[in-house]
Parts: sequence; structure tokens; C-alpha cells
Amino acid sequence: MEVELWVSKVFWRHRTPDGSFHPENPRRLDIVVNAVRNELGEAVRFRNVELYDERTPLRIHDPSYVERVRRLCEAGGGWIDSDTYVSRDSWGAAVVAATSSSKAVEEARSRGVAIFVATRPPGHHAGKSGKGLGAATQGFCIFNNVACAASRALELGLSPVLIVDFDLHHGNGTQDIFWSDPRVVHFDAHLHGIYPGTGWVSDVGGEGAEGTKINLAVGYGFGDDDYVYAFKELLPPIVDYFSPRAILVSAGFDSYEDDYLEGLYLTERFFRFVGGFLASIARERGAPLVAVLEGGYSVGLSRGLPAFLEGILSEESEVGCVEPSPRARSLVEEVRAELRRYVAL
Ligand SMILES: [Zn+2]
Repeated sequence: MEVELWVSKVFWRHRTPDGSFHPENPRRLDIVVNAVRNELGEAVRFRNVELYDERTPLRIHDPSYVERVRRLCEAGGGWIDSDTYVSRDSWGAAVVAATSSSKAVEEARSRGVAIFVATRPPGHHAGKSGKGLGAATQGFCIFNNVACAASRALELGLSPVLIVDFDLHHGNGTQDIFWSDPRVVHFDAHLHGIYPGTGWVSDVGGEGAEGTKINLAVGYGFGDDDYVYAFKELLPPIVDYFSPRAILVSAGFDSYEDDYLEGLYLTERFFRFVGGFLASIARERGAPLVAVLEGGYSVGLSRGLPAFLEGILSEESEVGCVEPSPRARSLVEEVRAELRRYVAL
């Protein structure tokens, strides 16, 4: 499947207001652009986007929260919480990130290409009115880009939507926004026991949406084979049951081994697989495939991200022999048992 990488110059202008160091900084995009050019050359088309529509974040966020962000940026920026900052230009960056993510759904659908939006600031921790599900902070996120994309997909009649989130952290903002919406199937693999502290296997969705929120809360030490096994066991029956009409990805690469925290042992093997796996599902279903950047701070961006795009280009999900740990097998059983209480998988 052809792949386009969308990025905006304004994403580089989202900086800490006081010039202090922050792991979520513009250099991340330099790593992304260089790595994709070096690893994949002409195979991935780059597109500079300046799509800006102030109404986009209002589709999913409370107006009072959006207004608070706008005012803080206009005042020169500041810290929203101990983790999350905005500068004067962050308003433009955050609105373009949300708008581009939404627009990418339309273009992926009409042109049959997969689109990776290299968004800054990231989005999956941003809930309806800021902090998702009562987390301590917004975890570097301003507007929830993948949720904006999902909302646009639904508006286009592409219902239900499948969101797959493989960032190291739980996409608590996304779960917060769509908790009671059965049109959004949210499959989230994350390391349990770290920020934001949400995403339990037993969290399956609010009333009327039970079974549409799937939390693969993994333990320390999970590696490629555990992830490949869990995705291969769980996702196909979920896709068969719900028949999603758009596939969106919260693509975080802090789950790559030693990118940000110690904890998981994911390498190119998993990221190439998941790209190919999701592309083949999108192809089979005739569904648009759009991925937006979440976390990833070092080697995850330089090695995991190109591998993910390479997987999409190849649509190949064959990885040879997979030997999951007993813990991975029992987690998959636990998730399956929880889901079967609500849906006929
Ligand atoms: Zn993360």
C-alpha cells in the first residue's frame, strides 16, 4: 500500500515556553524525517500540510477547554500541568495536528493511500476537557488527534471505526472521549503500572458500548513474540465481529526497547509486523488507514517508525515462528474472556 507522510512546519514551533529541555521537543521530528528518508528513500512520499480549522478540536473537546488552551497560547504560553506545556505557536500546531489528522481520513479514503501524520503535539492522553480519566497530567498532549480523525470518519459514514494504539502508555484520553460510544472500537496495548494508571482489562466501555474498548494491559518484559501473538489472536476476531470501516492508529514508538523507559522489548520485528498486519486488514476491508504519531523519543522513532511504514508498504504480516511467553498467553485468555461477556467472538 502506498504511504504518505504528512508533516507541518508549524509542528516544529511547539516549544517549551521557558526554553527548558523537554523529552517531547521539535528534534523528534528531525529524527522522524531523517530516519524515513534514510531507511525508505523515495518509497514514502512527504507532504507538507498547513490544514487549519479551529472548529476541529471542538468536535471532541469541551469549548471551555479549547478556549483555555487558546488563551494560554495567546498570552505567550505556559505550563498546563507539570508535564504539559504550550508556547505561543502551540495553538497553531495543535489545531493543524487535529485538522490534518481529520483530513487524512478523507484523503486516505478517496485516494487509497495510507497516511502517517507526524503530529506534534501528540494527542492520546487528552480527554474531553483535558486530563483523560482523571490522570495526574495530560502527558504532553493538547488535542486528541486520533479522536478528531475518528470523529471525521464517523461523519463520513465510516462506522464503526477501529483505533489501534500501541504506544507504551494507555490512550486514556481516547478512552475518555469514546467510553460510551459503541461506534468506536478502541484496542489499546500498553504497559500496565505506569502513567497514566488507566486501561485495565476489565474496562470494556460504558453502558451500550460494552465490548468496544479492549485493553491489552501488558506486563514488564513483554517482547516482540508476545505482542505479535496477542495482536494475531485478538484483532482478527474483533475485526470480523465489528467490521470496522476505517482503521486509525495511535502510533507511539516509546514502546520500542529502551526508547524512553525500560519495560518492553519491542523491536523492528513487531513494528514491521503491525504495519503489515493493519495494512492487510485495511486492504481486505476497503477501509482507509491513517496513523498519527503519539510518543517515541529516540531509537523508537529512528528504528521503530520506519519499520512500521515498511510494514504498511509491504502489507506483509508473516513473521515466521512466534513463541509467546506463558504470561502473554494467559493475558490473551483474560482479555478474550472479558470480551466474550459482551460480544460473540
Ligand atoms: Zn507514550
